[in-house]
Amino acid sequence: MCYFISKLTCCFTSFVLLSYFANCEEYFENYYDEVDSDENPASRNAVRWNAQKWPNNIIPYTFSDEYTPAQRDTVERALRYFNENTCVRFEQRNKSTTINGERGVVYTTSGKRCGTKVGYQTLPATTHNVFLSPLCLTIPGAVQHETMHVMGIFHEQSRFDRDEYIDIDWTNIDIQNYHNFIKVPVEYAKPYDVPYDYGSIMHYSEYAFAKNPLKKSIKVRSDKVNPFPRLGQLIKPSEGDIQKINRMYKCCK
Ligand SMILES: [Zn+2]
Repeated sequence: MCYFISKLTCCFTSFVLLSYFANCEEYFENYYDEVDSDENPASRNAVRWNAQKWPNNIIPYTFSDEYTPAQRDTVERALRYFNENTCVRFEQRNKSTTINGERGVVYTTSGKRCGTKVGYQTLPATTHNVFLSPLCLTIPGAVQHETMHVMGIFHEQSRFDRDEYIDIDWTNIDIQNYHNFIKVPVEYAKPYDVPYDYGSIMHYSEYAFAKNPLKKSIKVRSDKVNPFPRLGQLIKPSEGDIQKINRMYKCCK
């Protein structure tokens, strides 16, 4: 419980559990640092309330002025995949449109951190920042991971039923990182009847936050799968990811 309390201090808009899960930015997500350092990197899980989904399935977005043409291209390639495979529409706006009252996403930069809030933010009336490090801005899959958070999807290993599919080695995780492995109760998020997906772009790697980098922090329950899956892919959203978005946003395809 103390993890909740310490984490809540970062959630200045949150006083209830639902807000805790939806509003905390992923300052903790060192997932990409693992890729950066070239080490072996390695449901809940989507908001269930309509107010946390983007109205009319449209997500307006713009870029930070600092973005290079190549970085814009990475983001646009990443978003195109959602436009082509789901009924959610990412529509680029100019900055003045966003400022004039339409809530939109701003893809912006950060030093090493990649993260964003989960789902449509009803309060306060500000833009929805997606922080991307220079490394993340070279990986369309990393942009897609953060963008799925924007759409309202949590990490796959946070599903309420995850213990049937994986084991967390708590002895190999620092106590200050425990909150990264909290399950989101089914009252706040649901998997939209999509089976647990080891291949989800939203799944952490086997070595996420591992104290001992040679030891897995997440272990697949070996009685569940054959062949043995590799967790933490950043190639593209899985079929399950796309299915989840389409069910969540009531797409017809
Ligand atoms: Zn994430």
